[in-house]
Amino acid sequence: MENYQASENQPGLVERFLRYVQIDTQSDPQSTTNPSTEKQKDLSRVLVQELFDLGITDAEMDEWGYVYATIPANSEKSNIPTICFCSHVDTSPDVTGAGVKPIIHRQWNGDDIILPDDPTQLIRVADHPDLTSQIGNDIITASGTTLLGADNKAGLAEIMAATAYLLAHPDIKHGRIRLLFTPDEEVGRGTEKVDIAKLGADFGYTIDGESLGTLEDETFSADAVKITIQGVSTHPGFAKGKLENALKIAADVLAVLPKDALSPETTEEKEGFVHPTRLEGNQDKAVLEFIIRDFTEVGLQEKETYLQNQLNDVLANYPGSSAQFVVKEQYRNMKDVLDQHPAVVDNALEAIRRAGLSARRRSIRGGTDGSRLSFMGLPCPNIFAGEHAFHSRQEWVSVQDMQKAVEVIVNVAQVWEERS
Ligand SMILES: [Zn+2]
Repeated sequence: MENYQASENQPGLVERFLRYVQIDTQSDPQSTTNPSTEKQKDLSRVLVQELFDLGITDAEMDEWGYVYATIPANSEKSNIPTICFCSHVDTSPDVTGAGVKPIIHRQWNGDDIILPDDPTQLIRVADHPDLTSQIGNDIITASGTTLLGADNKAGLAEIMAATAYLLAHPDIKHGRIRLLFTPDEEVGRGTEKVDIAKLGADFGYTIDGESLGTLEDETFSADAVKITIQGVSTHPGFAKGKLENALKIAADVLAVLPKDALSPETTEEKEGFVHPTRLEGNQDKAVLEFIIRDFTEVGLQEKETYLQNQLNDVLANYPGSSAQFVVKEQYRNMKDVLDQHPAVVDNALEAIRRAGLSARRRSIRGGTDGSRLSFMGLPCPNIFAGEHAFHSRQEWVSVQDMQKAVEVIVNVAQVWEERS
């Protein structure tokens, strides 16, 4: 592996990143243990050791694989909120993360990037519009057969480099800072075993976003709906006028959903959807599962009422049949919480601007650990880490974007100190 010339401002950033991505930390949605895969602790342990090496005395990994650590305050002010920087150690179950061979494409000239271990995996500017602003930068990719794991090891490396920088520059004043590295974000269980009391932070930032300069302070609000249809079952040979086939009732419900709206494949930006995710059953009984998404609680409610009405209309054609309609809350738009603490977003936007970037606010068509943490009492927007094309073999990140992210993390700490 090549040595990267580390800039003074980014102690060990690239070296750390290259080291972390070569540790396989894939999580497993089928597993019921915490963490879902033991190998995630391999990276958590490395992080704890590296934090000790930097001089952090309280770094620890708990039994679930969560890493907690403190950068002590060095400011005289006593009223600075404790802020937390958070990233996840696991990588997506979608693509293997075993045997990652990171490659640095130095001073990339704009040509398609060929991944040597599978030349059919071409990274083209046409498919990755964010690459147009990366010409001349150093792009890191995997070799074609694995994901890279920049999601979220870019965030880990950036937080670690920012920690090293803050410890080496006591002239930069800041309050108490907590670091939190979590397992199992990719399987939706990253906050399951977080100890918020032990973390003891007032506000948090996940460093897990995409493009340079972006801050995400909005997520979907999300519910799941489970419809259990009870049909009228008879022997098919003696069924005339009696059988009401639960599978056909379920199919009727799916058939009345609009073809040109209200689905993931027909919506974007701030539009929500009603999305069937699973169908199983027989003529007697069928279960139909949906996920419902919207940015507002009202929109979520409207979509559920819509689905319930469609179901009732269908059932009107099957007088002997019935259905149960059960809504389960999944997560809520973090903006509802963040709006009550405007300094959290404002200070991050200021930190991004101080890094010489134009700050852009975005919403996420999904949930993050931050949306769950926000509702657990830790308001927590998401700052860019530079990750792109995540969960794919074409995943990439640029060294220069990662350097900017380190700068932003340091600035966030500084802005909170100044404004407290
Ligand atoms: Zn992530």
